Amino acid sequence: MNTSDICCLSHYRPSRNGRPHAWRDGKNRLHYRVAWEDASGAPIPEGMCVCHTCDTPNCIRADGEGLYWANGAWHPRRGHLWLGTHADNVADRVAKGRSRSGPLPLDHYDPEEYARRGERHPRAKLTDDDVRAIRARHENRRWGYTETARLYGVSRKQINTIVLRRAWPHVDPDPDW
Ligand SMILES: [Zn+2]
Repeated sequence: MNTSDICCLSHYRPSRNGRPHAWRDGKNRLHYRVAWEDASGAPIPEGMCVCHTCDTPNCIRADGEGLYWANGAWHPRRGHLWLGTHADNVADRVAKGRSRSGPLPLDHYDPEEYARRGERHPRAKLTDDDVRAIRARHENRRWGYTETARLYGVSRKQINTIVLRRAWPHVDPDPDW
């Protein structure tokens, strides 16, 4: 086996969303985004995703510079990581024949898939704007969920999952979560 085929797995345990996080600059960040920035020596341009050539969300291999072909164009690549938009990542996934009906992808955000699970879900009581307002309300304090829950007529647990972005991840997703 060529050594370049071997993934370099994060030594951090995956978080609840299945992706490894590393503490950096006072923030819990996706480990492979930190790895990309360490390797490139520059911050990731706004709106860009760090995607995986190996489809392994736990992989942080960022050695060696190159290019990766996806969505009809070349993209900057370092090790098993490459830089692209959400659309590039989705196109790459489709091209590789990964299932569209399987579990939600862990290494990127697909607006179409998430939309089906969000506002248009028949049982959803909250709108995208409600979710934004709830997150803004709890941005700097992770308490008082009971009051917010009463305000919006949902459970305290639901507020908790919204604030922690385990629910409604498609609404203004945090690039590092
Ligand atoms: Zn890998």
